[in-house]
Amino acid sequence: MNIINPATEEIITTLQEDNEASLNQKIAILKKSQEDWAKQGLKERTKVIQNFYDLLDTENETLAAVLTSEVGKPLQQSRNEINGAKTRIQWMLHNSDKYLSDELIVNTSELKEIISYDPLGVICNISAWNYPYLVGVNVFIPALLAGNAVMYKPSEYASLTGLEIERLLKKAGVPDGVFQIALGAHQTGELLLDLDFDGYFFTGSYRTGQHIYQKVAAKMVPCQLELGGKDPLYVTEDVKDINAVAIGTADGAFYNNGQSCCAVERIYVHEKIYEDYISAFNKELKSWKIGSPTEKGVYIGSLTRKEQLNVLEQQVEDAVKNGAVLLTGGKRINGKGYNFEPTILVNVSNEMKVMQEESFGPIIGIMKVKDDAEAIRMMQDTEYGLTASVYSASMDRAQQILSQIDSGTGYWNCCDRVSAGLPWSGRKHSGIGATLSHQGLRAFTKPKAWHLRNS
Ligand code: NAD
Repeated sequence: MNIINPATEEIITTLQEDNEASLNQKIAILKKSQEDWAKQGLKERTKVIQNFYDLLDTENETLAAVLTSEVGKPLQQSRNEINGAKTRIQWMLHNSDKYLSDELIVNTSELKEIISYDPLGVICNISAWNYPYLVGVNVFIPALLAGNAVMYKPSEYASLTGLEIERLLKKAGVPDGVFQIALGAHQTGELLLDLDFDGYFFTGSYRTGQHIYQKVAAKMVPCQLELGGKDPLYVTEDVKDINAVAIGTADGAFYNNGQSCCAVERIYVHEKIYEDYISAFNKELKSWKIGSPTEKGVYIGSLTRKEQLNVLEQQVEDAVKNGAVLLTGGKRINGKGYNFEPTILVNVSNEMKVMQEESFGPIIGIMKVKDDAEAIRMMQDTEYGLTASVYSASMDRAQQILSQIDSGTGYWNCCDRVSAGLPWSGRKHSGIGATLSHQGLRAFTKPKAWHLRNS
């Protein structure tokens, strides 16, 4: 498997993919080691994960360079991602005792009722490339804390980072047999689906997620899916500072080249402020530095996958053919690297691909609406349900609107943000189950009810 730098199109290195025999061997090791890891106790496991946290700090520069080399995001955004992962781990370390320890529900002299949280066993984590640290730690850190052993399959586009994660976890003290890595693309994923895991935790596209869900169903084990989105954002006419809103929302749409599951993917603007918003938004885009992800100050680096350039071109073509106006950008950038111009389409309608299909790139459709009712109708018109956002002077108005949107997350005056203390969950085609928060800690456990009668 060739690992390609998306900014230079050069082969960085070649790795050996896993096959049926190697994966059989790895799952056997995991099964053998899991019980001892669970017996070590939460306190011991917490110490090990704390070591991993510290290593992310001391090795930040090296890790950021590796990440940028294989996914093409600006170096500063790679550093930010690792720091963001640390914040999540910290929350998990502070809260694991509270949420993973036994809970005493009834405590009388005759009866004790207790809930214990047992690990699932050996879990399989099939992961994505866009934020390998963030989406990775959502799964393998709470899984390890809860006493599971983990088979981690990084995306084929983030394999080097996957290997770095494995190296640091081992260096931190995770026993060799408790964390194993499966290298490769969809063929490796398919082989993992045939093995006997005690739970599957997937981050990736709806298409792959649906396939995994169907295949895993027969096993009767937990299967959690964190999938894509087509996240809407609505700007009402009462916002105080249109310029600041335009800058913040442009970042929400274009950070990491728009390759975020919760990137703003569609914008609806009240007609009274539409022209002013568009002009401030466009001005913001023009101020960004586009270029090599290793160059200082670059905000728009390279896309990770070459094929996505075609998807973006098709979305532009479909929109323009159906009456949209291309305000800025619209095509790939010549030269080496998978680069696409930051693109704004206006005069769009909700039927266009750019307003319905996940773009996962530096492109946005902006549409004028006449009132909140129309905005709600448009925002709800999607098969996805990850996040939705409203910018308004009024929290009540924003909450009133967001309560009518079927999404796992609602934002008022913010967007494209994740908090370790809150559940990260998608509805409809955006996923099943939750990571992060206490629910995400317990997602890797099975509860046991203890009825202890003293008679
Ligand atoms: P993808 O579905 O192409 O691949 C995800 C993983 O699945 C990879 O490791 C891949 O090798 C593996 N895979 C592919 N085919 C498989 C098969 N048949 N069987 C088993 N495994 C298989 O997704 P991607 O391109 O890596 O990630 C981008 C998608 O992930 C976007 O849709 C994005 O929105 C979503 N995402 C969601 C979240 C979230 O938290 N909801 C976070 C990050 C990314």
